[in-house]
Amino acid sequence: FNSKLPDVGVSIFSQMSELANQFSAINLSQGFPEFDTPNFLKSQITHYVQHGVNQYSPSSGVPKLQQQIASLIQKKYATELNAAKQITITSGATEALFVAIQTIVRPNDEVIVFDPAYDAYKPAIELAGGRSVHIALKAPDYTINWRTVEQKITKHTRAIVINTPHNPTAKVITQQDITELKRLVGTYKLYIVSDEVYEHITLDEQPHLSVLRDQELLAQSFVISSFGKTFHCTGWKMGYCIAPEHLASEFRKIHQYVTFSSFTPAQHALADMLEQQSEHVDSLSDFYQQKRDLLIRHLLGSRFTVLPSQGTYFLLLDYSDVSDLNDVEFCHWLVEQAGVAAIPLSVFYQTPPGDKVIRLCFAKNDETLKEAAHILCQL
Ligand code: PMP
Ligand code: GLN
Repeated sequence: FNSKLPDVGVSIFSQMSELANQFSAINLSQGFPEFDTPNFLKSQITHYVQHGVNQYSPSSGVPKLQQQIASLIQKKYATELNAAKQITITSGATEALFVAIQTIVRPNDEVIVFDPAYDAYKPAIELAGGRSVHIALKAPDYTINWRTVEQKITKHTRAIVINTPHNPTAKVITQQDITELKRLVGTYKLYIVSDEVYEHITLDEQPHLSVLRDQELLAQSFVISSFGKTFHCTGWKMGYCIAPEHLASEFRKIHQYVTFSSFTPAQHALADMLEQQSEHVDSLSDFYQQKRDLLIRHLLGSRFTVLPSQGTYFLLLDYSDVSDLNDVEFCHWLVEQAGVAAIPLSVFYQTPPGDKVIRLCFAKNDETLKEAAHILCQL
């Protein structure tokens, strides 16, 4: 069979979680919270399921959820949206990314992607007939060199994918990055796919510089978020995409043939959650900052070097002083012999730089983090 995705195997997240189960290891690999979704959200979704709200929703989403998202965005980014026309509810950010990319990428188009990159971008670009053009960011600070970006732009370049806060590096983009991005997008007429699924998890008082804050950028953008990260419900696969009206209507043409609509009871429950318990969203950064700090504190004295984590629920560790194995081998050794599952950073690169860096997820109970750190301190 002539595969459409010859280079794709089973995702590293599935692989490592399976190994974690197999070896009864502490799973700090795949990014998902160990704690449960808030009780209010659970009781609301149960309520809607039991009260007959179980049929298709409008393809673009339940209006009250679109409205609540618009209110949150107004509050956080001071941007006014036309909720009905610009916000489309999707089955996770994964669907939104896929559909946004299918909307804009045509055969032979090039799309700029920063490595290390989340795994969902490249296959979506290739399935649209495009080509991902990778720019590798360097450890330990993973700063974007915008001159390099400009040099990579050709007459085929159609879009640029950004991700802030960034998985896996835990970096957030700066105002300087936004200024540079704006210049390139304006000069070369590019679209932006802005993956902002960790928008509510920025640490050390870092602001989240959403593309939504800037009308000029928004005019060229698909901004994507996920309720999974915000409300500890990754398994619900609920997300959304925000775009200017003319792009949103094209996005919706494809969305309606990918899923048509997303899980109706969850949309109602999430709308209630945003309306009645929005303090959950406001408390998320502090909540995760405490987790990050606890993990870092308990790693003091280990031979790992902790890299800065400005956002997301990930922390990178350099293990150069612990092992000579490459990162994939090291992660296999770590899960099988030491009992901790992590993600090797090389899998996020087109051309791995040979760094000795792994990613840990700290969306875990304090006891789990302490136990994992205790093991890591003995290596
Ligand atoms: N983008 C990034 C950067 C992510 O980390 C994730 C979730 N792991 C997604 C997109 C996908 O989100 P969802 O689970 O809502 O599809
Ligand atoms: N986004 C999650 C992570 O980075 C994994 C999602 C998935 O398993 N596809 O670990």
